[in-house]
Amino acid sequence: MPELSQRVQTFTDSVIRRMTRIANRYGAINLSQGFPDFDPPMEVMDALEKVAHQGPHQYSITYGAKNLREAIAAKQSKYTGMPIDPETQVLVTCGSTEAMMSAMMTVCNPGDSVLVFSPFYENYGADAILCGANPIYIPLVPPTYQFDLALVEKGFQQGVKAIIVCNPSNPCGKVFSEAELLAIGNLALKYDAFVITDEVYEHIIYPPYHHVSMASLPGMFDHVITCNSLSKTYSITGWRLGYVIGSEEVISAAKKVHDFLTVGAAAPLQEAAVKGLELLDSYYQSLQKLYTQKRDFFLAGLDRIGLKHNEPQGTYFVLVDIQEFLDQEMFSGMSDLEFCEWMIREIGVAAVPGSSFFKEDVNHLIRFHFARQQETLEEALYRLEKLKNYKK
Ligand code: GLN
Repeated sequence: MPELSQRVQTFTDSVIRRMTRIANRYGAINLSQGFPDFDPPMEVMDALEKVAHQGPHQYSITYGAKNLREAIAAKQSKYTGMPIDPETQVLVTCGSTEAMMSAMMTVCNPGDSVLVFSPFYENYGADAILCGANPIYIPLVPPTYQFDLALVEKGFQQGVKAIIVCNPSNPCGKVFSEAELLAIGNLALKYDAFVITDEVYEHIIYPPYHHVSMASLPGMFDHVITCNSLSKTYSITGWRLGYVIGSEEVISAAKKVHDFLTVGAAAPLQEAAVKGLELLDSYYQSLQKLYTQKRDFFLAGLDRIGLKHNEPQGTYFVLVDIQEFLDQEMFSGMSDLEFCEWMIREIGVAAVPGSSFFKEDVNHLIRFHFARQQETLEEALYRLEKLKNYKK
């Protein structure tokens, strides 16, 4: 067989999504790949039913149906406080996965460097490889996941093209404060670099923390490429609807990348999703309340079992420390991946090994998500109780 590209030899499949396949094989409760197991809002499901009969069933405009772009611009203008032109500053993509990839391909030349906070959502590593960029990692230091601004500046001094900021941050649940965003933004302006943000968890955030959109900060709009998604906010991860917001110059270039990558997101789903974007404030408030309850319930359960964990400020993820298990003879020499595989088989709950998020040599953390119905979370905690038998 002729040789495959070098590119494909430098990264693996997604460990997050691999864990879902393993969980399914063993019938484990899947708290690995983050997606809800409950329904989208009724308005969105009803709209989908209508669309099946009324269409559209053919291509939308490649960069997104007009009414969806208008709905995105209106909703995001309202929540971020920045004016957004739906014609020139919005691009609809197939999930924020494509949004991120399009953003990276729009700004990076092969050989360029990008700053990435570690731990990071694993797609960013593959995105960088696919566009030939070289990631420079800046640690977010546990347990609070603070960063050292001097290190960020040192990174910028190496001549980077962009910094990626996931806020709220997957997997560590950090919510960047306005002061932190201003500091990062100032450096991006000073060193004339882009900020590519991933804000898909903007509405899954726990009081007193609140979300600030980097692009809404004074003077930042032209330097920020905001990637976002409808997946988490409206519980429609399988619809694969995401979007990019940016300056006209950035978006018109990103539109070209998107046009040849995917042509466009599914037209019937775009039409139905408009109803989600039209929901009132009370929807976002109840979503936040729902996830706050889930977080409190799941974290209290972990505490009862005696599993050490971080305190997520946003997202539906929690990192659990498994060092006390790894220290024991029966687990000795196990990687976090092997521990997760063991846990799927023996405990019946799936998590993602932390090593797939950290650049640093971290083998003692695993990530659970809690976007599950109450009964599922109860059953997961019941099963996790068994871990007590493996403690000293
Ligand atoms: N963001 C989700 C996670 O980290 C998964 C998203 C995806 O698989 N596309 O689990």
